[in-house]
Amino acid sequence: MTVTGSVSASSLGMVLPHEHLFADTLREYRSTGLLDDENIASNALHGYREAGGGTIIDVTSNELGRRPEALRRLSELTGVHIVMGCGHYRDPYLDRKFFDEHRSIDIADRIIGEIGEGFGDTGVRPGVIGEIGADRSVISAAEERSLRAAGIAQRETGLAISLHAARSTVGRDMLEVLDSEGVPRDRVILGHLDTVRDSEFILEAARSGVMLEFDGFISTNEYETTRDIGSVVALIEAGYEHQILISHDAFLTSHYPEFGGPGLTRILEDIVPRLREAGVSSTQLDLILRTNPQRVLALT
Ligand SMILES: [Zn+2]
Repeated sequence: MTVTGSVSASSLGMVLPHEHLFADTLREYRSTGLLDDENIASNALHGYREAGGGTIIDVTSNELGRRPEALRRLSELTGVHIVMGCGHYRDPYLDRKFFDEHRSIDIADRIIGEIGEGFGDTGVRPGVIGEIGADRSVISAAEERSLRAAGIAQRETGLAISLHAARSTVGRDMLEVLDSEGVPRDRVILGHLDTVRDSEFILEAARSGVMLEFDGFISTNEYETTRDIGSVVALIEAGYEHQILISHDAFLTSHYPEFGGPGLTRILEDIVPRLREAGVSSTQLDLILRTNPQRVLALT
């Protein structure tokens, strides 16, 4: 399900599974400014398309300032398929009062309604649930309620869930919450794994069948790039090539070329050649860039 309607998964081409064309991250990144410029987004999408890209998943969840109609305009203008996220982000962005006063099932009902009918009166329907997050190493009460709502919505609609589980092994607890809601592990993307420095945890998640997402490739820090390529290669060598996803996670103006950043073409122009050099085959690259994300987005 894209912002312009449903298409066959195989027509999506290459997919970037974790990006933000618009994002209100001012609460945490005050100096960098609000990402809300349709020209910047359109230039980035044109560049991505010219470099060989097909689809982006915009995992901008509710509290980050989703703009469904702008996403639809951009997709029509650039020819790039855009898949929109839904659901609730994480602390400190969550409205505590709202989560205190609503049951998970009620929050889920709103998400399910939007997946079926579209956002507000725009008719733009989400194609993924997320990103759904936990800010710290322990899931907060509001975050757990949001996560359960996402799980209920997953069971009802079949859409995959994209998780923000950064810097700690909180993803383990998040997966257990989703288990208790009956969500199959292969319908969950464990995001921001590049920030989780615990290879045992990552292998444990891999064995459980979850999708493994390394989405920090907007960083041009050479240490981080080398480390993340190494992590991807190690997981391929361990036999998990069918579960790996890679993306940039552009969410600041400074990530886009107008402000000196690499934009949405870095993976195609810089990371793919380096993965090849590291011994990753064309078949394996095809899985990571196309087949794996297409399978996650497909609704049977
Ligand atoms: Zn995130």
